Amino acid sequence: MLDLTGKTVVVVGLAQTGIAVARFCHRRGAARVILTDGKPAEQLGERMAQLADVPVEWELGGMNERTFTASDLVVMSPGVPTLPEMTAARAAGVEVIAEIELAYRCFHPGAKLLAITGTNGKSTTTALAGALCAQAGRPSFCGGNLGNMPLIDAVDHPANAERGLIVAEVAAFMLENCTSFAADAGVLTNVTPDHLDRFGTMERYAEMKGRIWDWQRADQVAIANAADPWVVAETAGIRSQLLWFDSRPGADVARGACLSADRTEILLRGVPGAADEERYPVDDLVIVGNHNLENAMGAYLAARACGVSPDAIRAGARSYRPLPHRMEWIGEKDDVRFYDDSKGTNVASVAASVRGFPRPLVLVAGGVDKGGSYAPMLEALDGVCKGIVLIGAAAPLIRKACEAHGAAYPVIDAADMHDAVARATALCTRGDAVVLSPACASYDMFQNYGHRGRVFREAVAAVGARRLDLAPA
Ligand code: ADP
Repeated sequence: MLDLTGKTVVVVGLAQTGIAVARFCHRRGAARVILTDGKPAEQLGERMAQLADVPVEWELGGMNERTFTASDLVVMSPGVPTLPEMTAARAAGVEVIAEIELAYRCFHPGAKLLAITGTNGKSTTTALAGALCAQAGRPSFCGGNLGNMPLIDAVDHPANAERGLIVAEVAAFMLENCTSFAADAGVLTNVTPDHLDRFGTMERYAEMKGRIWDWQRADQVAIANAADPWVVAETAGIRSQLLWFDSRPGADVARGACLSADRTEILLRGVPGAADEERYPVDDLVIVGNHNLENAMGAYLAARACGVSPDAIRAGARSYRPLPHRMEWIGEKDDVRFYDDSKGTNVASVAASVRGFPRPLVLVAGGVDKGGSYAPMLEALDGVCKGIVLIGAAAPLIRKACEAHGAAYPVIDAADMHDAVARATALCTRGDAVVLSPACASYDMFQNYGHRGRVFREAVAAVGARRLDLAPA
């Protein structure tokens, strides 16, 4: 356990995580806690007020190298870019670590840590793993990058004890400043282009994601997507026990997870401490799409490897409800189902959501174009798509891509979301689905993806669909 007594700690980044870290360091007896942020105090008043009861020192509107080099420890909030002051601190022999590394060093050795990273599917896999752990009859914590729960808050949570279960969503930029963070089960869902503005190259980005396994011990498990070449490359040379998951038809995994031939069961094989083979019905889950089967395989393997029983896994899977705006089944009319995937803000995530979709679907897409090719999305739609209804500024670009792809279904322009849902519904017959998965940013028509999803719901209600209540059972 890290001893902060009498230490001078610099906390970089005044947002939710920085606030939690400052409180934590004060509670643990740090002599001085200095909070620094590039933004000036005038822009941070509300956040500063949240620390009114803690004797922190402020260094706002810029950073002072001397403050860094004269401290005992620097703790980085997620999302803060690499700063010259960090390099100076390290050169002066001062440790600079991520908040998750600080939390990790304070974890009980008997608590089990499940950590999930990847370009897409982190939140879903984390929240599902959290739901499985919540049924285990052991104290559990689920947080990290997910929602409003910095991992540092797990340290003083009941889950931080012998046999406790701590589930953490981890972003690549958090791993950049780790030196020992070793999960008992570390999941890497996939690596596709993202955040290259920060990491420069795919190689560097993948290497950061791969750090989820770099410090693991031989008794811990690495859980890897066998179908993703970037993930496979990162498994080279790891010390932990490797478990693969593979959702491809015909995949036969000896140690890890795959699907039964009829894709109705998830098979777990060779998980340390479990039976040679265990079978879990896919029907336990309300989340749909091939990508969600991958997320489920990752979550099941991690939970099972950390001793969560098969019964708890089934109960947790049945209790799990999708996160808002991620392929969320929100309504139904005349056996036409409506799905809100407003979080599908890039082409790769839409492709993942619709590939192998269990119903014929009409896609509602468009918004602010992100500069990539729509081809992967259109390929994934082949065979399942009955039509595309376009909204927003990117509509002409998507239409052009559809023409180039030779799309054999109607591609229709809509004036707004209500018009789009009405037109999409008109293209459907019984057994079909309308899916909002825009492949674009939302800010030409909406405040953010959440707002876009809410307007979609209103539009779905306006066509007379029954609202589904999928609140936790
Ligand atoms: P993240 O937290 O990594 O952004 P989420 O679980 O919030 O991931 O999912 C965001 C979107 O990414 C979903 O709406 C879906 O379209 C897509 N997605 C989810 N899981 C996967 C996966 N395993 N592979 C590819 N895409 C996925």
